[in-house]
Amino acid sequence: MAGKTVTHGRLQVHMFGCLQDNYGFLVHEPEQQVTAAIDTPDARAVNAALRETGWHLTHILNTHHHFDHAGGNEALKAEWGCTIVGAESDRKRIPGIDQGVREGDAITLGRVQGRVLEVSGHTIGHIAYHFPEEKVAFVGDTLFVLGCGRLFEGTPEQMWQSLNKLMALPDDTIIYCAHEYTQANARFALSVDPDNQALQQRAAEIDRLRAAGTPTVPTRLALEKQTNPFLRPDDAGMQQHLDMVGQDPVSVFAEVRRRKDKF
Ligand code: ZN
Ligand code: FE
Repeated sequence: MAGKTVTHGRLQVHMFGCLQDNYGFLVHEPEQQVTAAIDTPDARAVNAALRETGWHLTHILNTHHHFDHAGGNEALKAEWGCTIVGAESDRKRIPGIDQGVREGDAITLGRVQGRVLEVSGHTIGHIAYHFPEEKVAFVGDTLFVLGCGRLFEGTPEQMWQSLNKLMALPDDTIIYCAHEYTQANARFALSVDPDNQALQQRAAEIDRLRAAGTPTVPTRLALEKQTNPFLRPDDAGMQQHLDMVGQDPVSVFAEVRRRKDKF
């Protein structure tokens, strides 16, 4: 599948589909010719995207250790000698890691500065990369379009805290997530938040996009806040539908996540 390149401020983002339903991303800073792969779902697909763009890989920014995110690290490092950045707290599970990073650490790509957010929940040690001036964030498997990552390692409390960190970013932040799960997520979202009109409209739009083979990634934070049930545990309508009126957001979030696991 051919990729697509979009410009965000001083960064160019090239997105491509790979494996079953993963998205890979190359982030390019043209002035200093710096190029980072956000995760390495598939070394061959990353290399194909590098050939397509003509960019040279200088960095890998890992969000977490899962094979469909760090599986291509070693092959790409052997070929390009690139620097691998990942969570310091998860150093042992990130193949070939050179630079361990923590909450708030700066990431420099040429003239562009990014910032690390620790967003455990899907895994312990999952991180996201936010580029504030470019208004983009790469969130791995933490937040999806109309969904969130499965809690393989973390607790609902941790995931809710992590999602809150992402929700605190500016509303116009463009969110790049790592999988095309949107159509299934939309069906589930409608089951827990059926009266949400913005969600109904969006689900119809998603069906149109997917029928045409168009990716639904990236998304915009403001739109997720209106339509993603995992960001809306304090919404009165959804609480009513779940028969959880007045309950705390963590409990409601946990219930929504439980239902999704069984959906
Ligand atoms: Zn994962
Ligand atoms: Fe994944």
